[in-house]
Amino acid sequence: MIDVIVAGGGPTGLMLASELRLHGVRVVVLERLAEPTGQSRGQGLHARSVELMDQRGLLDRFLAVSRKFQVGGLFGGVIKPWPDGLDTAHPYGLAVPQPVTERLLNERALELGAEIRRGSELVGLSQDEHGVTVGLADGTELRSRYLVGCDGGRSTVRGLLGVGFPGEPSRVETLLGEMEATEDPETIAAVVEEVRRTELRFGAVPQGDGVYRVGVPAEGVAEDRAAAPTIEEFRRRLRAVAGTDFGVRSPRWLSRFGDATRQAERYRVGRVLLAGDAAHVHPPTGGQGLNLGVQDAFNLGWKLAAEVNGWAPEGLLDSYHTERHPVGARVLENSRAQMTLLGSDPGATALRGLFSTLMDFEEVNRYVTGMITAVAVRYDLGEGHELLGRRLRDVRLERGRLYELTHGGRGLLLDRTGRLSVEGWADRVDHVVDACEELDAPAVLLRPDGHVAWAGADQRDLLAHLPRWFGAAAG
Ligand SMILES: Cc1cc2nc3c(=O)[nH]c(=O)nc-3n(C[C@H](O)[C@H](O)[C@H](O)COP(=O)(O)OP(=O)(O)OC[C@H]3O[C@@H](n4cnc5c(N)ncnc54)[C@H](O)[C@@H]3O)c2cc1C
Repeated sequence: MIDVIVAGGGPTGLMLASELRLHGVRVVVLERLAEPTGQSRGQGLHARSVELMDQRGLLDRFLAVSRKFQVGGLFGGVIKPWPDGLDTAHPYGLAVPQPVTERLLNERALELGAEIRRGSELVGLSQDEHGVTVGLADGTELRSRYLVGCDGGRSTVRGLLGVGFPGEPSRVETLLGEMEATEDPETIAAVVEEVRRTELRFGAVPQGDGVYRVGVPAEGVAEDRAAAPTIEEFRRRLRAVAGTDFGVRSPRWLSRFGDATRQAERYRVGRVLLAGDAAHVHPPTGGQGLNLGVQDAFNLGWKLAAEVNGWAPEGLLDSYHTERHPVGARVLENSRAQMTLLGSDPGATALRGLFSTLMDFEEVNRYVTGMITAVAVRYDLGEGHELLGRRLRDVRLERGRLYELTHGGRGLLLDRTGRLSVEGWADRVDHVVDACEELDAPAVLLRPDGHVAWAGADQRDLLAHLPRWFGAAAG
């Protein structure tokens, strides 16, 4: 039997498939589309996602096809220099179009042995004590032990589960697409600069060969947001907002997005889980959605694998919701706040000016950048050491670096004392003794997602914490 069916082969589903394969889980990804759309929604990876790629040995592949950027804040259109002292060894983002990210994650999932079935749409599901039965659009059925809905904002899985998706509906809509523009580039640049003084939802970014990525506020909110706009609608809105339509023609793709913020009430119902846009939608302000989804997958992958492989302690799989739901809620909140800052009315303009001044305080810039890049995420693992619940940044070791040791996705005890032991858990947890000067603790126990599960120096205390994350000691 298949262990896990992943519905949806977007960034979240592909990342999850790879994480599961690291632990030998038999995984099938069902992707409705026969071919990728090529639509570049997500524009890049923030620092925490860059770290994830490094943790799994994928960073070189991304560096080869992307450009580093160091922009602080990225909040509500207020751009500032990168802050000092952000807690990461990767103080930058990567500008990489979403189709490229998807291609690299797809290649990786295939290399690790995931089966990816394109042109395969999930239309039904039922679950019982032992597994999940999935109905496909071609009338066939598949059976697996678990199902994860990574099937995007209009998630069929979420709908079939009957999980509530409360939140705020869209109040504004933006048209987005790539198309040729016949107007000369200097004129386009001048118009964009002028209009963006008051309308930050407007933009035209050259993509090469006379093609532009154009964003323009729509007139209202479409009844059917799944229906793509026409090039004529673009021309009309460009003329209304910018006074010229730039001679746009020959669209590569056209789409629309709103500013709804909604979050699934539960990320788990029995043997079915939700991740990525299927679990939360919010406006693309700050470029967080793809990153959030990939990070959901990173949290869920090892926990679900532990469940499948039979060593998951009680409550481990439920900790996916407990940890990731609050993180998603905070992103919804900050993206909604950014939409207010992006407004074109005088109040919003005044607020943006004030916010820009506040961002000149290094500490504010560091706080906001830590939030948008997700390096500041800390799971509530109870009282304890300052590092507890945070992911550990990459640190230099006497030989090599920490993240070079985490490619296999196992737990890891980084031990400066040389007196500790993970005997009984050695099949799940590596033990590295290293004087590591950059570590602010005698020893840390890292989960496979790199978050600190324990910090200290006492073997008995360590033994009390290992089972919470890694199950019972081997007999
Ligand atoms: C204009 C815009 C700009 C954005 N910019 C950024 C950015 O800069 N940075 C960022 O991090 N995020 C950005 N985002 C958000 C980002 O694009 C999404 O958050 C991201 O794509 C979510 O990934 P996902 O895998 O969860 O869902 P999706 O990418 O939506 O993938 C879901 C997949 O499931 C498939 N599917 C759906 N239903 C079924 C079914 N029933 N059976 C089988 N397959 C199914 C779909 O075909 C799709 O391939 C932006 C979004 C928009 C709209």
